[in-house]
Amino acid sequence: MKQKTTKLLLAGRPKNGWVNTPAVRGSTYLFESYQQWRDVRARRESERLVSYGARGNETCHALEDALVELEGGYRASLYPTGQAAIATTLAGLLAPGDHVLVTDAVYDPVRNFCRQFLERMGVEVEFYLPSGEDIPNLLRPNTKLIYVESPGTATYDMVDLPWFCGLAKSVNALVVADNTWGSGWLYRPLELGADVSVIAATKYIGGHSDLVMGAVVANERAWPQIQKSSIVFGQTVSGDDAFMALRGVRTLALRMQKHGENALQLANWLQSRPEVSKVYFPALPDDPNHALWKRDCNGINGLLTVELHSRFGLAALETFMDALELFGLGSSWGGYESLVIPVELGKSRVRQQWSGHGPMFRLHAGLEDASDLIADLEQALGQMSSKTT
Ligand SMILES: *Cc1c(COP(=O)(O)O)cnc(C)c1O
Repeated sequence: MKQKTTKLLLAGRPKNGWVNTPAVRGSTYLFESYQQWRDVRARRESERLVSYGARGNETCHALEDALVELEGGYRASLYPTGQAAIATTLAGLLAPGDHVLVTDAVYDPVRNFCRQFLERMGVEVEFYLPSGEDIPNLLRPNTKLIYVESPGTATYDMVDLPWFCGLAKSVNALVVADNTWGSGWLYRPLELGADVSVIAATKYIGGHSDLVMGAVVANERAWPQIQKSSIVFGQTVSGDDAFMALRGVRTLALRMQKHGENALQLANWLQSRPEVSKVYFPALPDDPNHALWKRDCNGINGLLTVELHSRFGLAALETFMDALELFGLGSSWGGYESLVIPVELGKSRVRQQWSGHGPMFRLHAGLEDASDLIADLEQALGQMSSKTT
């Protein structure tokens, strides 16, 4: 049995001599005969065949193979963004009259999709506590799906996924996990009992801030509905983008390790600072998610969220963020560079009163030297404090 790191390098490799599957571009695919066309049409819903550009090509298939290897699923499908992957999955698995449970630590655009689309479709959306502790009381006979994000957005709350999936099975509900945080490397939801894992490949799979893409890996039970939904919504990616994402997969393990090491150094340093009241980072022993993280995750990524003491206001946060030089202010994460963004949980969480907290920001630790990142944080905190006092 080969080790995971080795398997990641072999997955989706072609057998035509090239190390890498070439980037295929194409819309029309020509058949040799009417007989062959008929044959491919009859088989393409159950088998993965090349038949038309919008249904993927050899480069897309190679990436799908690598993602199936990463997540341990049955089949994978690709989407132009992570958000498209999630929207297509939920629209395909839910019908009017269904009840869906969604974590309150969900990525905000997904919350908007639930509110603006699923509710309009006649699906009843209910949010559960990020810890998942209230799930047994929220399940109903018509609960069709539980949507998990573990660790969750901004606060990295984890649920006990095997326990969760057992409960879901008892009412015959599917479990869909947003696995962008783990990206198949740090966390494997399908192995822990989930039916579907969704990854924003924009983040760590791409890894270089030059690509937007989403991916779904499903088990055999959930796959047929997801495939149908992807086809009717016309979801696909180009061979060029699939090529780029596959290139990212090859260095995922190595990059993830360095992101995690850097983030741990930043987290430890920030925890010792008088300006900081709390660091949200599951690898810290006093983080409330530490035990589950240790049990279920294979390492940590570059994300950490920092809460300043409540004596600091939003103006102080602004001074701090503008003073940073190595941390760029921008959306997304998972690229090689460090980033900072403000976190405003009072505007998103509906199950928790988010009051009495100081201003918060999220850092993404890139692959720079950690001592340079710490020096940058130190000078920016210094500018913030001297302006505030
Ligand atoms: C970024 C992100 C997405 C969406 O990915 P896009 O490619 O930006 O659409 C979904 N879930 C999580 C947790 C994310 O961080």
